[in-house]
Formats: sequence, structure tokens, C-alpha cells
Amino acid sequence: MSDIEVKKIALVTGAGRGIGKAIALSLAEEGHHIICVSRSESSCGAVAELIQTNGGSAEAIALDVSDATAVENTCNALLEKHGLIDILVNNAGITRDNLVFRMGEEDWDAVLDTNLKSCFSFIKHLARPMTRKRWGRIINIASVIGLTGNAGQANYASAKAGMIGLTKSLAKEFAARNVTVNVVAPGFIETDMTSSLSEDQQKMIVGIIPMKRMGKASDIANMTNFLASQKSDYITGQVFTVDGGMVM
Ligand code: NDP
Repeated sequence: MSDIEVKKIALVTGAGRGIGKAIALSLAEEGHHIICVSRSESSCGAVAELIQTNGGSAEAIALDVSDATAVENTCNALLEKHGLIDILVNNAGITRDNLVFRMGEEDWDAVLDTNLKSCFSFIKHLARPMTRKRWGRIINIASVIGLTGNAGQANYASAKAGMIGLTKSLAKEFAARNVTVNVVAPGFIETDMTSSLSEDQQKMIVGIIPMKRMGKASDIANMTNFLASQKSDYITGQVFTVDGGMVM
């Protein structure tokens, strides 16, 4: 590990599984130190270990990202330890689907707090040092559902659309300080989140994707990796759909 040049420090939420895990592994391959955040110690711990086994540098933090106080305390401790986080990927997310008449307030709050408020909390505490250094990358993983809406997902669609509004506003606030803020909006990606869909639902979904297949977590990681790199220097406030052509 010591012979690897640690280039930047990247924090990825929801890094324990699926898309977040693929993003963490991909950024680690670039030589960045990865702070893997997820709800359970076992999932983020396993990903941090895998990165280390592959010769990279990583640490794991188990945290409920919907808990603003816990996020603040964690960010303060991380800034104390590292000075600054250069790359922030807000990826942790959940669904609690139901038609609106049957949707409980807890399901609304849980989805809004986990998907959207968490972005505000992390950015609020980690962006200031980025602006001081005049370099930073914030990438928010939303969803095409935030662009199109979806019956049964009013909470999720609102959270993901909110992430887009947050991104565009903060892109404007931070642009002059060379801190970029962008959204990656995945279509349907093969992860635990979509494996809970029935076979019929999966068939129906593949039917409406022009490329006739679900995406892979690595498809989202590739776009995120690009947005985290120097190659995306002049791109901010944008939404990149990665969805096999579903939303055009
Ligand atoms: P998964 O369900 O496979 O993984 C979710 C990750 O988020 C897990 O690591 C989980 O932690 C973490 N997480 C969930 N809630 C919290 C919380 N309160 N605090 C901390 N960590 C939490 O999801 P995906 O990989 O499929 O999705 C990742 C992101 O991509 C989400 O924001 C999702 O909305 C978005 N997305 C996914 C699509 C898809 O088709 N899969 C499509 C469009 C968008 P733990 O491992 O500890 O449980």
C-alpha cells in the first residue's frame, strides 16, 4: 500500500454495496484514499478491506446518513484527521414505495432524509475546506425517476428531483471557487435495490430500455470517476443520465 501515491481523499456514502461499492473500488483504482460510509459496519468494512487487499488505501465508517448530528460529528472528526475531503460522492439511498394515499409520513421522511437531507448535511460540513483549497468535486447520485416521476414513488422522485435542485444551486454557489457539483442519474441498474423487483417487473423494465438490458454498477462508477477527475474541470451543475437510452 505504501508504494501507492495517495492522490486525493474521497468519501463515498452507501459504499457497502451496489453502485456505491463500484464507485469506491473505481476511485481507489485511481490511487485515491477512500472513506467508505454505509449504515452497517460489516458492509463498509468489507469494501474498505477489499480495497486494501487490492493494494489501495481505505477506511470504513458506519453511520446513518439521515442523522444530521451524526453526519456533522463524523465530518468534523474526518476534517480533523485529514484536513480536507477532496471528492464527495453522495450515493446512499433507499426506497419505500407506495401509492401516495397509502404512504405513511415515516416513509416520506425516511426517503427524504436518507436520499436528500444527507446530501445537504455532508456538503454543508465538507464543502468549505474545498472552497478554501479552490478544488473540489461533489457528485450526487440521483435517479432518472427524479426527472420523470413514477407512480408509487412520490417520496423517492421528490428526493431525487430535490437532489437535482440542490446540485444546480450549489454549483452556482461554488463555481467561482473551482468546486464542481454534478448529478449522475442512473436508470435501472442491477443491484440489491432492483433485485427485489419481481421477474415480471424486471421484464417490463427491460422492455422499456432501448438498450434492452439493465445497467451495471460499473456503468455508474465510470461516469462518477470521470466527474471526480481533472478531466471534468469545466463541467458543473449538470445531470448525466446513465440509463441505456431510457430518458432522452
Ligand atoms: P443498494 O440498496 O444496493 O445499496 C445502498 C447502500 O446505501 C448500502 O451500502 C446501504 O448501507 C447504504 N445506505 C442506505 N441507507 C443508509 C443510511 N441511512 N445511512 C448510511 N448508509 C445507508 O442501492 P444501489 O446501489 O442500488 O443504489 C445506490 C444509489 O443509486 C441510491 O441512491 C439509489 O437511489 C440510486 N439509484 C439506484 C438505481 C438502481 O437501479 N439500483 C437506479 C437509480 C438510482 P448498508 O450496506 O449498510 O445497508
